[in-house]
Amino acid sequence: MTIYQNLIAGEWTGADAVENINPSDTKEVVGLYASGSATDTNNAIAAAKAAFPAWSRSGIWERHVILKKAGDEIMARKDELGALLAREEGKTLPEAIGETIRASQIFEFFAGEALRLAGEVVPSVRPNIGVEITREPLGVIGIITPWNFPIAIPAWKIAPALCYGNTIVFKPAELVPGCSWAIVDILNRAGLPKGVLNLVMGKGSIVGQTMLDSPDLAGITFTGSVGTGKRVALSSIEHNRKIQLEMGGKNPMVILDDADLSVAVEAAANSAFFSTGQRCTASSRLIVTEGIHDRFVQAMTEKLKTLNVDHALKTGTHIGPVVDERQLKTDTDYIEIGKKEGAKLAFGGELISRDTPGFYLQPTLFTEATNQMRISREEIFGPVASVIRVKDYEEALAVANDTPFGLSSGIATTSLKHATHFKRNAEAGMVMVNLPTAGVDFHVPFGGRKASSYGSREQGKYAAEFFTTVKTAYTLA
Ligand code: ADP
Repeated sequence: MTIYQNLIAGEWTGADAVENINPSDTKEVVGLYASGSATDTNNAIAAAKAAFPAWSRSGIWERHVILKKAGDEIMARKDELGALLAREEGKTLPEAIGETIRASQIFEFFAGEALRLAGEVVPSVRPNIGVEITREPLGVIGIITPWNFPIAIPAWKIAPALCYGNTIVFKPAELVPGCSWAIVDILNRAGLPKGVLNLVMGKGSIVGQTMLDSPDLAGITFTGSVGTGKRVALSSIEHNRKIQLEMGGKNPMVILDDADLSVAVEAAANSAFFSTGQRCTASSRLIVTEGIHDRFVQAMTEKLKTLNVDHALKTGTHIGPVVDERQLKTDTDYIEIGKKEGAKLAFGGELISRDTPGFYLQPTLFTEATNQMRISREEIFGPVASVIRVKDYEEALAVANDTPFGLSSGIATTSLKHATHFKRNAEAGMVMVNLPTAGVDFHVPFGGRKASSYGSREQGKYAAEFFTTVKTAYTLA
């Protein structure tokens, strides 16, 4: 089998490889992917550092053309790349193709942003002096990504980094190197100079840790667990490095008495269970007021009966497998914890077998949960959600905000008053009214508050905050 290698200083390299396994069919090896060493990582950092002076001064048209070419190729290959994504991560083919299209759109967006880079010219408070405020590239950026969005998250970090003139050392999650390899290959062929984008696949404890220990990364943009995010933060203080962290969530979805029941059920089922609940914006706390509680639980369980859990590539699959054995164990451990804590298992909770050996778990719904239970406080990252019964809107809002996290917060209601109040008072970076907590646009900011995020927002024009540094220049007229 061919080894998909790392790209360091413009050369494909690496003989040590690991198998990329399909979670829908663990007998299937998606491919062999290089696993980089500390030396590879340091070589990649050195290459990115050497490439920075020229790339940081490259023309905006050159950056536009490369980003646009990449966006176009990803779109042209959406079915093939979507299938690769579904095979390595386990989300359904339509979800995977949707994510691939989004990656293409992100490259198209930042191709445009490259041409729109602007500064400000303002008068000084002192006569005869002009002041210019410009944005300059930050330097070498370390990009560390998780397994749950194998193409979109790399895209939304790589595209702005290149757009604003930075060079990159990119380390994707070990479980899903395939899509990352593909977009690096596309960008490399699109004409990026050697060393501008370096790919080092491999272990977090080796490749990732070497990046954290390097004094030569001007910034690290990271998406992953709270624990690793803290390591990124602590190491970055030591190296005076800018950071952008996207970590966990425990997102609430409030359902009020006046909600349109079908809208509420669609939004809640999507939020909690689509993409196998493996989205940081997934909702795992369904906070439901008394008047609609029983009808909602009934309609949700009916809905869950209609969702097929099966091979990600099979037509008609609504929910693919869990990504790997370790995550499956986490999910089933939490299901046991929920039962012990006294929540009532209203649906699911069982492993299921299908035609192919994979990590198949029923969507699992608890009722009679409280917000103090561990299943309501800790991020599970699987198809497991709990219904928490509350008296009224005020209690629902208080429970929604009573969490260490603050990424996305949803409400189902037909009341303008409550929707307006919730938008202003939900302690989250993103608020959804009558929509799932997950599913965001590519051209507007993404990010959260509290333990969910740290640093400036990703995506849209707000991405410039992280990927550039501001210079203020004064000139005597
Ligand atoms: P998860 O538990 O969801 O896999 P992690 O935070 O462990 O989340 O992983 C997110 C990314 O961080 C992955 O690319 C992983 O390899 C990387 N990573 C893990 N440990 C470290 C580390 N010590 N230093 C840097 N990166 C790491």
